[in-house]
Amino acid sequence: MLINLYLVCGVALVMLLSCNSSNNTDSSTPTDILQGTVDVTSVVQANFINEYTEGVNVAVNGDYISISSSGLPDHKTPYWGEGHEMFEDFLGVNHANMNTTMIAFNYVMTIPTYPKEASVKEQTDLGAVGMALNGVPLYNDYEGGGVLEENAWSTFDASGAHPGPNEDYHYHCEGTYLTVDDSNLIGFLRDGFPVYGRKDMDGSYPENLDENGGHVGVTSHFSDVIYHYHVSNDVYSTSGLYVIKSGAFHGTKGTFTQ
Ligand SMILES: [Zn+2]
Ligand SMILES: [Zn+2]
Repeated sequence: MLINLYLVCGVALVMLLSCNSSNNTDSSTPTDILQGTVDVTSVVQANFINEYTEGVNVAVNGDYISISSSGLPDHKTPYWGEGHEMFEDFLGVNHANMNTTMIAFNYVMTIPTYPKEASVKEQTDLGAVGMALNGVPLYNDYEGGGVLEENAWSTFDASGAHPGPNEDYHYHCEGTYLTVDDSNLIGFLRDGFPVYGRKDMDGSYPENLDENGGHVGVTSHFSDVIYHYHVSNDVYSTSGLYVIKSGAFHGTKGTFTQ
């Protein structure tokens, strides 16, 4: 009789546990993730770093994380200027744009601690749409004059970057020191969602990206699924380059000040 009672209790306990565990599984389904249950704080804190300029700082303020930087790259580029220890020449026929120098800024990007899908997707605009892990702004496929054209990409360094009219160095495309046909974490967009290289962590090219260049899935930094962007896998125009971001934000963008 006592044994039977134990058995009944045991079965009830197992049912209770399995019930709980299935609830736990449910809490990490894509639907719930999109409601903003993934905390990006630890990944942001662990990965934003710029050893060269010591220019990246992360401050957590409850629902928001502020990342500040000088915007100067921690790698070689011709835009450091000849004679600088980090100078390297342009590739091929590329050449400097009219902004032959780049200067330091006091950038602050504020992103949600729990990024969440927006009900209305806002198009990305001119200017910084996100920040690379080294503090350099990420731009989309637009320049001041409209979509990127040859007069713009011919001024890119090996990192798919150049300074704009304000001597503000920024990335538009895949390139050396950032990501080249890999699954590297590049940075975060202003809506708090991470951006990866062209591949997923298993080495495959994602085939189900939405119109904003992202999808829901696991990454090497988020073992529970999270919405994340990828560098485009389509060559941009005749540039031979892969644009980092085009289209709209998946979530609601935070501020980016300089
Ligand atoms: Zn530009
Ligand atoms: Zn992916």
